Amino acid sequence: MTERGLLIVLSGPSGVGKGTVRKAIFEQPDNDLDYSISMTTRKKREGEIEGVDYFFRTKDQFEELIANGGLLEYAEYVGNYYGTPLDYVNQTLASGKDVFLEIEVQGALQVREKMPEGIFIFLTPPGLGELKSRIVGRGTDEVAVIERRMMKAVEEINLMQHYDYAVENDKVENAVNKIKSIIECEHLKVSRVVHRYKKMIEEL
Ligand code: 5GP
Repeated sequence: MTERGLLIVLSGPSGVGKGTVRKAIFEQPDNDLDYSISMTTRKKREGEIEGVDYFFRTKDQFEELIANGGLLEYAEYVGNYYGTPLDYVNQTLASGKDVFLEIEVQGALQVREKMPEGIFIFLTPPGLGELKSRIVGRGTDEVAVIERRMMKAVEEINLMQHYDYAVENDKVENAVNKIKSIIECEHLKVSRVVHRYKKMIEEL
């Protein structure tokens, strides 16, 4: 029986650099992940290719797919729909390949509900951990600015609790290496490999 692939979900606050990190992962010569191409109703940007960057669809087409249960998750983000086609994810996992999703946070929480066995990675903005000392230490910002930054940090930290791993995006290269290590370790979990050893014993 083919071993099911891992579902890896990269998410995080808007503007943290999810897309850049994802692209860098897929440019790695040893990359063995399958990217799940999302569907969206937003307009194609210059240089984007249908079926490579996204599946570009009309609002009606997208809503039909929602109604037919064709999406693993979807979200409305800045006035457009974004979603993950369910069949592709299921078929690819069943074929034994790892599937990588790069999606915003509302969608990631839906995947957590539906496929809790996935590996959920939260990309954090650099310096989130020492935000307070940086802001207070500097002492030059207005109180309102400090409060806004603190509130945003609290929001982000609260979201992080729904994930398995937090990776700081201080440098793209560092984030990529950490994500690769996470995936490597997940493949070595006893719960994933023990059946292979059991089978070996049976066949002795
Ligand atoms: P952009 O329009 O810049 O390509 O993407 C906007 C946001 O949508 C990014 O945060 C990206 O991660 C997110 N996104 C892309 N595809 C999906 C998807 O299939 N589902 C969800 N929930 N978010 C997505």
